Amino acid sequence: MRMSRLLFATLRETPAEAEIVSHQLMLRAGLIHKVSMGIYTYMPLGYRVLKKIERIIREEMDGQGAQELFMPVVHPAELWMESGRWQVYGKELMRMQDRHGRDYLLAPTHEEVITSMLRQDVRSYKQLPQLVYQIQTKFRDERRPRFGVMRCREFVMKDCYSFDRDEEGLSVSYEKMAHAYHNIFSRCGLHYRPVAADSGAIGGSGSHEFMALSEVGESAILFCHSCDYAATDEIAAVEPVPTGVGEEFREIETVWTPDCKTVEDLARLLKVPAERTVKTLCYMADGQPVVVLIRGDRQVNEIKLQNTLGCYELGFANDDEVRAMGMEPGYCGPVGLRSEIKVVADREVPLMVNHECGDGRKDYHLLNVNYQRGDYRIDVTADIALVEKGAKCPVCGAPLDLARGIEVGQIFKLHTKYSEKLGARYVDENGDEHDMVMGCYGIGVGRTMAAIIEQHHDAHGIIWPMSVAPFEVEIVPVNDKDDWLMAEAEKLYRELQQRGVETLLDDRKERPGVKFNDGDLLGFPLRVVMGKKCHETGLAEVKVRASGEVFEVPLADLADRVCALKQQMMAELTAPYGWEADI
Ligand SMILES: [Zn+2]
Repeated sequence: MRMSRLLFATLRETPAEAEIVSHQLMLRAGLIHKVSMGIYTYMPLGYRVLKKIERIIREEMDGQGAQELFMPVVHPAELWMESGRWQVYGKELMRMQDRHGRDYLLAPTHEEVITSMLRQDVRSYKQLPQLVYQIQTKFRDERRPRFGVMRCREFVMKDCYSFDRDEEGLSVSYEKMAHAYHNIFSRCGLHYRPVAADSGAIGGSGSHEFMALSEVGESAILFCHSCDYAATDEIAAVEPVPTGVGEEFREIETVWTPDCKTVEDLARLLKVPAERTVKTLCYMADGQPVVVLIRGDRQVNEIKLQNTLGCYELGFANDDEVRAMGMEPGYCGPVGLRSEIKVVADREVPLMVNHECGDGRKDYHLLNVNYQRGDYRIDVTADIALVEKGAKCPVCGAPLDLARGIEVGQIFKLHTKYSEKLGARYVDENGDEHDMVMGCYGIGVGRTMAAIIEQHHDAHGIIWPMSVAPFEVEIVPVNDKDDWLMAEAEKLYRELQQRGVETLLDDRKERPGVKFNDGDLLGFPLRVVMGKKCHETGLAEVKVRASGEVFEVPLADLADRVCALKQQMMAELTAPYGWEADI
């Protein structure tokens, strides 16, 4: 490609809307173009990267025997009614009607379509197992799209589905996908780690998320240095440490606590330590009021809470909604709550003795409250607390460490969740019918691209790993008026292309500084600089973007040298990166 013909525009300034490096650099390098909130066009250079990641994914999926197909993005509502998700899926589901008034949706995921297809096309055990995948656009109407393609509304995803006879078969498919994911993320040059994302079972095999390590990651990973325990904070268990255990129940005291709205205010005024208080938080879950109780010094993990409630929409109740529950904001408490309000408590709360909590009335709190004495009601007790750094490892007891990660992939055992509802069954050797046993496996392709940039950049711009670079090498002749130099550049350009190297020739009529700055920003792994010296010495420079190394190479050897460096840099991406070494 000749750069003079390339459709691209780089920006000097960092766009104000971009909070994280990958978003800033993707906009500055002109890889993406914002069309609407959370909706982007991939420009030619950006799309080349996306396609390369897709190619790696395809090779590894095909290598595991998965077959590629392509499903529609518009789904009829009936299919989602069969699975029950039309009714319960929240506002993230983009619903619409056609000209006949029939309901449709823009697909955020494809379990319904694939399962309903398999139920028609697969009848016998002889046709199982099946592994199918697609790379396709999905739509989720995120409440708060941000971070560019990291959390957007329209995005490209690889989704794969496995159909097996039984749990054993599912485990085989699951392992195949885990293996493929290791290869994919290693080849993309990512520092990553798979972590348990199974609900409940510690280190379980029900689901794993593949996390690209990054400070800007939205997921927190708790991990242990003493054993190999690693889990997202969404599932990492908190060991209950109840306070007051062994004390006699004391009589409830009502205390006047003007202007004490926080646990800290209260601890100061009443000299009650935060761990002897119970925080009462009011939520609305799918439009229903829910009161949540947790030890005063702990935080609620809203994902755990959402899983406990099984709801789709969860948010804090506003002041009016809190008052409608019969309480004053800032002074909420569980004693005397109306029976129609659901009360969810963290596991520690019912074990606590003589704890403090809000009274419900403005300016009053209660001391020496006890669930075990029947002072208040709890409907559901569950682990809903956020695990913090230093908490005990649930496997070996050592203190847990915390890292942040970008979830680039997830593998999930669905078992018969969808096949049962949608009637995807097969007949075995004896003529008996069984539900197919399913798994699903996703990779966010655009998000993987952003994660690569988060891990591979410097102050000047992106540093693409060789495997995903939009072009592998750029040729920069420093003087476009020097005919001999331009002819040499042209010769190298053609030779590299013939030898299968993706080459960009910067033939623009620009100053060398502009070309170098653009090259650094765009992050091509190798740069050949043909300067004045070429005339005198017959030498050109080959610069490695990542290390900054510069080699002086005779013109006649340039193509060989570039090919050798490319091979070497590709080979470095085959081995998985270490994880512990990065912490
Ligand atoms: Zn451990």
